[in-house]
Formats: sequence, C-alpha cells, structure tokens
Amino acid sequence: MGIPLQQQIRIGAYLLKNHLMGTKRYPMVLMLEPLFRCNLACAGCGKIDYPDEILNQRLSVADCLQAVDDSGVPVVSIAGGEPLLHKEMAEVVQGIIDRKKYVYLCTNALLMEKKLDQYKPSPFLIWSVHLDGDREDHDRSVCQDGVYDRAVKAIKAAKARGFRVNINCTLFNNADPERVANFFDDVKAMGVDAITVSPGYAYERAPDQQHFLNRQTTKQLFRDIFKRGDKGKRWSFSQSSMFLDFLAGNQTYHCTPWGNPTRTYFGWQRPCYLLGEGYAQTYKELMEETDWDKYGTGNYEKCANCMVHSGYEASAVKDMFRNPLKAFIVGMRGIRTEGPMAPEISLDRQRPAEFVFSSHVQKALEKLRHTPKVAAAKGAGGGK
Ligand code: SF4
Repeated sequence: MGIPLQQQIRIGAYLLKNHLMGTKRYPMVLMLEPLFRCNLACAGCGKIDYPDEILNQRLSVADCLQAVDDSGVPVVSIAGGEPLLHKEMAEVVQGIIDRKKYVYLCTNALLMEKKLDQYKPSPFLIWSVHLDGDREDHDRSVCQDGVYDRAVKAIKAAKARGFRVNINCTLFNNADPERVANFFDDVKAMGVDAITVSPGYAYERAPDQQHFLNRQTTKQLFRDIFKRGDKGKRWSFSQSSMFLDFLAGNQTYHCTPWGNPTRTYFGWQRPCYLLGEGYAQTYKELMEETDWDKYGTGNYEKCANCMVHSGYEASAVKDMFRNPLKAFIVGMRGIRTEGPMAPEISLDRQRPAEFVFSSHVQKALEKLRHTPKVAAAKGAGGGK
C-alpha cells in the first residue's frame, strides 16, 4: 500500500474510534473544492461547466479551514477546478497541515513547478498529480498536447525537493490494459509514491459521453490491468486493497456517499463529490438532513455505473473493519483476477434521474447579482 505507516496509524485510530463508538455515519476524506475555474478543459470533466460569474468565485481561506474543522476528517483532498489558480492555496494547505491533517493537493501540474516554492515538504502534504496514462493517452484525455511532459517535469522537480507525490489516474473505456500497466511501471520508475486510480464517473455535463465505463467493463479492465502486475502487488496504490478488489469485481459494495463529504462554493454538496443534487448550508445539515437512501447503485439512475472511490472506498474500509481476516488475505495474496465475479446490485428499483443543474446555477447567479459589489469582489478574490 502506498501510504506511510504513520499515516495508516493516524487514520486507523480515527476510524477505529468511530467504529468502536458505533458512529452511524462518519466521513473519511473531505473533498474541498475552493473554486471551479480550471486552466484545462478535459473531455471527461463535468466540474467546470459554469458561467464566468461562478467560475470567478473562490472559497476563502477561513471557509476552507472551517469546513476542515466542521467535518473533523483526518484527510482532505483539495480538488476543483485547478486548486493552484487560487491565490491563497498555500495558506489553505498550511492551515490543514497545522491541524495535523493529511492534505492531497490535486493539480493538473501546469502551474506546479512555478509554485513549488510556496510549499514546504511535509509528511502531511501529498501532491496528487492528474495523469490519465502515458503521453499519448494523457494528452488526449486533457485535450492538449504537451501536458504530460510538463506534469512529469513537475513531478521530478517535486520529488527532487523531497515532496511526497502521487498521481491520480482516471480510466475510460478506451484504456488498454497493457498500456495502463506499462504506464504504472513508468510512474513507479519516476519515484512516484502512490497511484490513485478510478474509473471515470459519467458526468451528465461532460462534453464526451462516449467513453465512460459501465460496471462490467470496469471490472474486466481492472482484472486485466492487475493480472499484468502480480495481481496489483507490483504497484503502490493510495487506496485500500479491498477497494481495488471491488474494482476487480470481487466484492459487492453499496455506496457510502457520506464517506467523502464535499464542500464547494455552493455549500455542502448532496450527496457526494460526483453528484450535485442539492446543497446544505452546514456540515451538520448535510449529515443529518440528507436522505442518503435515495443514492447509490440500485437506488438512483445516475449512480448505476459508478464505482468511484469517493463513494466506495469508505464501504471497503467498513468491510475491512468487519472482516479483517478477509482484508489481510487480499492484501497478502493480491487481487483475484480470474473466476466468477461477485453478484451485481439489481437496478430494477432505482429511481429515475433528476436534472437539477440549471436551477442550482440560476439560484447561485441570482444570489451573486443581489450581493453588494464589495462583498462579491471579496468572495471572488484569488484567481489569475
Ligand atoms: S454511487 Fe455514490 S459516489 Fe457514485 S454518484 Fe452515486 S452517490 Fe455518488
């Protein structure tokens, strides 16, 4: 596993405490989206399709740190948009480190090398660089030539300065298992500490709707990748072995959407990082007043094909606590890549998709247009 022992112990202690206390719902990772603006426009991204007035908004440093304190999580993943476009990002990151929380700073790396001086290496800080494959695959995924080379250069510069660096890799249905396995070997050779891998979620507003994976093809793809790397053991992943086992079709998990609560400019996003079906104004309201049973594979049409870690890593971790021996065996033996797959969740009773995106945007625009200019300018600070 690509997580240092000290981090495993700290996170394990937090999880164990909640498990022993019988806490019904507790989060593992805060997904913090301080802005939606990005300096790329990837074909599979459904996160940046907003009018300029909204793309210009930023969460303040105080709002970001308040979200960390309110959720009480041991780990924060800063996503977006492109977090490095936020002028106060180094301050946000330092505030999280000062709280002894682990912070994964996601970036497409276009600005990373230029901004490295603003950050200090720390066991609590992990750069999470977006790389969806080798040069050809990644540049096609982000719809721009030269991005892979810049990302690799930034990774090497960060490693040379002593930073922890992961990559986060999203796979689509055009992924070739052999090439993905070779790519994982390449990033290992670069000295990358760990890989976060995920099947792409079928964002309803992503420009490219042709290349999202369904569950069956996801499972087969991961089996075909892991079998090329000693059942996955050749590479260090930042995810649990049980989650990887789920990706390879060996576990039936129901989604745990509250495992990764998401704070954006709109508020606390319901129900998860991937779906914006409504917003709570406080963390308490999110946890206590969301009708969680309405979501997840089998419950909601938009969740039918989802196998993303933001919904299912927490399910895998819960399973590890309930069945430590099973988790130990998977960890030791590696991921099973042959034989029958675990039963799939029936979609017979899922409720149909609701389409609410434009009403959220409209509401946010009205609020902005009625906010006095000085306050609005303050909220918009930071972009470049
Ligand atoms: S299955 Fe879970 S994580 Fe995936 S979109 Fe639905 S609620 Fe979100």
